[in-house]
Amino acid sequence: MEFIDEKLDQYVCNHTDKESELLYELNRQTHIRVLNSRMLSGQFQGRLLSMIAHMIKPQNILEIGTYTGYSALCFWEGLAENGKITTIDINEELEDFVREFIQKAGAEKQVNYVIGDAMQLIPKMNEEFDLVFIDADKENYCHYYDLVFDKVKVGGYILADNVLWSGKVVGEYEKADKDTKILMDYNRKINDDPRVENILLPIRDGLMLARKIAE
Ligand code: SAH
Ligand code: CA
Repeated sequence: MEFIDEKLDQYVCNHTDKESELLYELNRQTHIRVLNSRMLSGQFQGRLLSMIAHMIKPQNILEIGTYTGYSALCFWEGLAENGKITTIDINEELEDFVREFIQKAGAEKQVNYVIGDAMQLIPKMNEEFDLVFIDADKENYCHYYDLVFDKVKVGGYILADNVLWSGKVVGEYEKADKDTKILMDYNRKINDDPRVENILLPIRDGLMLARKIAE
């Protein structure tokens, strides 16, 4: 389901900054060389992620779901000086691709790219984050939220992508498929959690933005 009219979408994109040449190339190469290229954030959402990072100026970001590194490099643009982003992906086949672009961006010092299962890696991390981006396997969304919660500063943010799941979340719960149910659960969980303030942005496939206000 497209959430806004195609012409309007075109207009919106045309009145949003273009991506850098490097991100354009990363976008293009993902479409040429990698499967499932629609998972990539892309120009419009990428500009939002970059803007969010610039607004927060985070010292430390955690991204769950690197894919080809597009969103990580968007966040990287807005990191605080000496800030860092750790990005995790289970798919080792993309390693060379991702490293190539991190290097081309000159971001090796600030982007810590880790290959492995985020469900296993996150509990071992002993760090505090200003921003966490959840964008990996949908079935673990609620688990990721619980795993990262104590590692997010009060005043920090947890952002989750694809929470409208092409619009399927508005259907009947009992009739929904497994992933849709989990995203419905996620949205309810965040909205019911008194420890965060939250807003669901109907941008692209839906972004749930939560700000931690209490431990
Ligand atoms: N954030 C990227 C898109 C991520 S696509 C962007 O916006 O451009 C989702 C990614 O999650 C895939 O690359 C997939 O390999 C990864 N993934 C799936 N399950 C995972 C897990 N358990 N741990 C880490 N990464 C996982
Ligand atoms: Ca996504």
